[in-house]
Order: sequence, then structure tokens, then C-alpha cells
Amino acid sequence: MSQPDRVPEETRAGGLAPLAVLPVFVRLRGRRAVVLGGNAGAAWKARLLASAGAHVDVIATDLSDEMRETAGVAPDGSVALHQRPWAAEDFHGARFVIVAPEEAGEARRAVDIARKSGAIVNAVDRPELCDVQFGAIVNRSPLVVGISTDGAAPVLAQTLRSKIESLIPLGLAGWLDAAKRWRGEVAARIGGMTMRRAFWQRFADRAFAEPDRRPTRDDLDDLLAGGAGEGAGDITLVGAGPGDPELMTLAAVRALRSADVVLYDDLVSDDVLAFARREARTLLVGKTGHRPSCRQDDINALMVGLARQGKRVVRLKSGDPGVFGRATEEIAAARAAGVAVAIVPGVTAAQGAAARLGVSLTERAVARRVQYVTGHDRDGRLPATLDGAALADPSVTTVVYMPKKTLPALVARACTAGLPPTTPAVAVVNATRAGERHVITTVGALVEEVAALPAGPCLVMIGEAMRSARRDGLAAASAPIGSGDNACMAAMQNFTARAF
Ligand code: SAH
Repeated sequence: MSQPDRVPEETRAGGLAPLAVLPVFVRLRGRRAVVLGGNAGAAWKARLLASAGAHVDVIATDLSDEMRETAGVAPDGSVALHQRPWAAEDFHGARFVIVAPEEAGEARRAVDIARKSGAIVNAVDRPELCDVQFGAIVNRSPLVVGISTDGAAPVLAQTLRSKIESLIPLGLAGWLDAAKRWRGEVAARIGGMTMRRAFWQRFADRAFAEPDRRPTRDDLDDLLAGGAGEGAGDITLVGAGPGDPELMTLAAVRALRSADVVLYDDLVSDDVLAFARREARTLLVGKTGHRPSCRQDDINALMVGLARQGKRVVRLKSGDPGVFGRATEEIAAARAAGVAVAIVPGVTAAQGAAARLGVSLTERAVARRVQYVTGHDRDGRLPATLDGAALADPSVTTVVYMPKKTLPALVARACTAGLPPTTPAVAVVNATRAGERHVITTVGALVEEVAALPAGPCLVMIGEAMRSARRDGLAAASAPIGSGDNACMAAMQNFTARAF
């Protein structure tokens, strides 16, 4: 007997999960608020309420120095100090009351009376008496993010706050101010709900793409016209850093978040790529020694072609785009095509490797200059012009990119020019990324030691400054990039993506 055909089944996305607390945002501008108590904690709350535009009456028999200072620096509303005991009438007309007396019985009485008079009540350090709790705040007014752990881990909330802060460009406030000004006109000129939503989506994309620019009347006209002016795509060469995503710049993260297409090299780690929007196209274009790469001309043509279609193209390169990254050719191709091009610098592999070994690349009297050289010329040989005398200079730190294949020739050239084989040298494979390995040795033993290293991007550093290199006890300044951390970053990205 044949099985009945399966028919499409309408399903519904899961409902809301339980919420520990309900986040709401309270408007206090021009409203009266009361703070009972004069200690430092109460002072901070008074300051917060005044920041939100409230007129705050502080009533306390003892006023701390912090509270006295607060009265002078109310950023928006006002803070008036009343040095006396409180009374029930003090709560009349108050929208918000902070209760901070030391004594529990007094606090409970005050909370009861304040609540009866219709105020929202928070009792400092007495969660059981609170109607509402304060969370960690990201303040980019008019953009405000509140973070609560329902008291479980306030410090975690603080940490999360700084992470979220780093994802929100400062200039966004300017765009939000413009949004407030434009709302009326947008509603008047765009009738349908769907069209209006599309307008605000274009607005959000543009605000995140160009946060540091002040929005203008032209932006509004262009966005109202369907954003046709956005047709001009552009190219940004972005330095991804040596691998650890913690070493990306904020500008790199932002460029990735706003890219339509990301062209990236083999050496760019997945953790870095994870910062691209989910909707963005990501194209691996190779460009490292060990696997076949796309031809540079093809990469240039692809990059320029996509930008001409109106795409925001990010050309993501490991380390810094301007260090052995063939950036000049890509910039020239963009310029020749009349496509706007910008560069976001990155932490180059030398800096990442030096940090992991706890060494400084320059050192007074010992290493007066640093030179970055490559072991590869166009044909994969040691560049003929590589200056032996410069390599042998006793006061230089030489960093060799792509050292592996030609290391014997490089060492021979340096030693022939007078570099002592006893000079300290290090090699680092996978600096700042999974599978990192070091050898700390001398120039004389370098070739043999490097040959024994596992596969992966490798950097050699030579010079007296390497004498203090240590392979242990110097983990990354930040915690290792565990999956938890990535999950956390990813969650935050989704959070911001959704919020906008
Ligand atoms: N633009 C890059 C360099 C590109 S050339 C930068 O600024 O770092 C590629 C070479 O860089 C590799 O062959 C290797 O020598 C070096 N390199 C890049 N990332 C590295 C890493 N995480 N660890 C060690 N060497 C690295």
C-alpha cells in the first residue's frame, strides 16, 4: 500500500521564551523624581535620573561629598538637595522614587508610601523591595541599550556593555537625530507600511555603512527616491589582523558588518570572517603560497566589477593590507575604474608574533630599526635585491614574511655579509591563531629548527631584540578564543543586526 503524499504543513515559529524581567524604557523628561538617602550609591542614581531629564529632589539627613557634587553637575534635568528627614508628602507628584536609607524598616516604610502615591520604586541594594531594577547602560542617546542579568552577574553585564559599545559607531547618534527630524516627512511622503519599512531599512543600512558622516538633506532625498544614489559601490581594503579576531580594529568590524561582498584570502581566519553579515556573499580568492590562488588581475576585475554593480566590497586581507598584500595593485585598479577605495589598517603578523613572544621589535641601543622583508620574489625565489648588509646590521630587527622556502639562502646571504650565527632568532607558526608554535633559537640553527615546524603561516624574526623572547607564560592578553566567546560575539552581532 502506498503511503499518502506528504502535504505542506503550516508551522509557526516558536513563541517567546520566559523573560526574567521586562525591559522597558521610562520617559522622565520634565518629571519629578525623589531620592531618599545621601550616600554615594544614591548620588549615582540621582545623577542617572537627572541625565534622563528628571527634576530630582534629594532628601537626606546626611549628604555625602558625592551627593553634594551631583547637585552641581546635573547633566540635563536638575538635582536639588534637602538636608532633613523625609516625610510622606515628599512623594507627591513623583514619577520615580529611589529609596536608599541604611535601615531596613525605614526603607520598607518609604517604599510602601512611595508606591501608594503612584511612583515607580527602586530600593538601593534591596532587590526584594524594587518595582524596577537598573541594568548596565549603553548610552548613545537617543540610542539607549539596557542590559540586565536579573542580578545574576552584574559584572558580566558590564563586560557585555563594553562589547556592545564597541559595535555601535559613535556617529550613529547623528543619524538617529536625523531620523527623529525626518519621521514626519517620511510618513507624509510614503503612504504604505511596507514601503515605509523599506525606507527605514535603507536608512539603517546607510547609517551603519557611513556612521561617521553627518546625514544631510541629500541623504533624505536620495533615500526617499529609493536610494538610487547608493548605486555607487565602493571597495575597502581591510586588514583582518594575524588571526585572533580580538586583534581586529573596530573599523574592520564595521566594514565587515556593512559589506555586501567579502573577497578574502586563505589566511583570513573563520573567526574573523564570522563578522560579515549573514546575507553578505563571501568569496575565497586565495593568494597565499600553499594553495592555488586566483590571478591578481582576476581579483582586481572581480572587485571592481562588483563595486560597479553598486556593491560595497570588502577586500579582506590577513594582517595589514599594506604589508606584502599587493594592495598597491588593487588600489590602482579601483582608481583606474573610478571606484572609491579606502583602507582599514590591521595588525600585521610581525606585531602579533612579537606580542605573543613578549618582545619589542625595537629596543633602545640594541634594535634601532625594524625591517620587514619577504623571502619570496615573483618567482618564489629569494629576492635578488635583498640587501645582505642591511640583514647583517647588528642594530636591526629583521622580520621575514614567507620565509620557509628560501630561508637557507637568506641566512647564507646575511651571514656572508657578517651577521654572527649566534644572533638570536625566532620563528612563529600560526601566530595568535589555533595551532600556534614557536622556536627560539639562533641564526646558526634557524634553518633546521624551522624545517621541523608544522605547516602554517610562518614568520621569522632575527636580531638582538629577540634575546628576551619567551615561549611560555605569555598567552594572549585576552582569553583564548574559545567557542564560548565566539558564540557570545556572534550572539551580539545577531542582536545588533536584529535591533537595526
Ligand atoms: N599582510 C599580511 C602578510 C601577508 S604575506 C600581514 O600584514 O601580516 C603572508 C605571510 O605573512 C605568511 O606567509 C607569513 O609569513 C605571514 N603571516 C601572516 N599571518 C601569520 C600568522 N598568523 N603567523 C605567522 N605568520 C603569518
